[in-house]
Amino acid sequence: MQLSEFGLIGRYFNRASQHKGLIKGVGDDCAVINIEPHMQLLMTVDTLVEGVHFSPDVQPDDLGYKALAVSLSDLAACGAEPRYATLAITLPQVDHDWLQMFSSGLFELAGQYNVDLIGGDTTRGPLTVTIQASGVAPHGQALLRNGAREGDLIYVTGQIGDAGLALQSNLNQLNYNDVTIHKRLNRPEPRVQAGLELRQLASACIDVSDGLLADLAHILKSSQVGAGIELSRLDLSESVRRYQEHTGRLDFAVTAGDDYELCFTVPPEHQNEIDKLSRQWPFHCSLIGAIDHSDTLTVLNNGDPLEIRHQGFQHFS
Ligand code: ADP
Ligand code: MG
Repeated sequence: MQLSEFGLIGRYFNRASQHKGLIKGVGDDCAVINIEPHMQLLMTVDTLVEGVHFSPDVQPDDLGYKALAVSLSDLAACGAEPRYATLAITLPQVDHDWLQMFSSGLFELAGQYNVDLIGGDTTRGPLTVTIQASGVAPHGQALLRNGAREGDLIYVTGQIGDAGLALQSNLNQLNYNDVTIHKRLNRPEPRVQAGLELRQLASACIDVSDGLLADLAHILKSSQVGAGIELSRLDLSESVRRYQEHTGRLDFAVTAGDDYELCFTVPPEHQNEIDKLSRQWPFHCSLIGAIDHSDTLTVLNNGDPLEIRHQGFQHFS
């Protein structure tokens, strides 16, 4: 089947809107959106490059899903309610089966969070996927990185290190045939609901994409505080626990990245509310430490200081 650029867009990426605020979506020079009064618009963009963020043998539906998931994770970290996305996609060729799967993975997650795809750009070249997502939060209620204060408690959602282990196992052909860790790498679940519930409770929040230590360090730097954390308080999967024991790499989970969990700080007076909230979440939430007045991040493992060689992933280091 021969399809022009516009035929392709119409066939795979133009779907009905789910929001009455959308005045114009795909098909004009710009999308036009009505924003409710007293709300703020939050925007984020992420690019996935073949060979850097995903391997050439990725399943196209997983790629579509993950490309949106990483942007929704940024919205979650800010306590935003997701609304709209745009997609810039660069394709080496038009492969209908590939596009069908890619768009179905993308729209599967979009449907789960009522996200409209309202525009984009389609070009030919090395496979690259960029998604810009936007969401809303009531004025002044967005969760930022700079609000952590001495005495605040530090929490992490879910289990970290699973995606990192799946990646490691793909690269090194380690024998971890634990399907859940591969699902965690290929289809991370953005913690959107948790982010919304943390508004007005958390003092700072970030999503863990480059490694817990590196991302917590961003909160500390932004808030101009230090912290102490205890690694034994983390909830780790059996596979990650075993890997850390076998290799002696006790800092693996906290430096691995690609987790898309939330790390957030909470003033101690909200601890009970967090306990109550997190009991209803379908994943664990660990209290791992506290903000202090130092200017460093101290990492303990069962009370012993742990030396950390690198905190997480950076593109240009
Ligand atoms: P323009 O040249 O005016 O920037 P394009 O010709 O690139 O617009 O795209 C035509 C329309 O299709 C625009 O509304 C654009 O937002 C939308 N669009 C292009 N590519 C995609 C895509 N991959 N997904 C969703 N919408 C897209
Ligand atoms: Mg135009």
